[in-house]
Amino acid sequence: MNQPSDTIFGKIIRKEIPAQIVFESEEVLAFKDINPQAPLHILIIPKKPLKDIADARLEDENLLGKLLIVAGEIARREGVQQSGFRLVINNGKNAGQEVPHLHVHLLAGRKMSWPPG
Ligand code: AMP
Repeated sequence: MNQPSDTIFGKIIRKEIPAQIVFESEEVLAFKDINPQAPLHILIIPKKPLKDIADARLEDENLLGKLLIVAGEIARREGVQQSGFRLVINNGKNAGQEVPHLHVHLLAGRKMSWPPG
């Protein structure tokens, strides 16, 4: 499996390929998903190359918190706080993770079912 920094998301972080960036800080990047599964579909990623949640350690506590804070900020800014939104982190094969660089999906703009497929 590729190193997280070698993935398509590593290339987006380094601006080697384009993305529709909606938020950027020193540690976090958020951009529109290229294949949206809802009217609003944003990916929020750490710039640090973590493969998935299981790759994170206690030293990443602050960084993981920032991913969620940014997700909430984007939800407020996009006006979906009231209507609702879903955050998803796919980890590994059974969960359908395709890109081995930790990412939080923010999905909104339609009614979603539960449990997820
Ligand atoms: P996952 O299946 O959880 O690993 O999700 C990977 C997501 O990355 C999918 O929703 C893809 O549509 C999205 N994706 C893949 N390549 C790009 C790209 N170049 N720009 C934006 N999103 C992408």
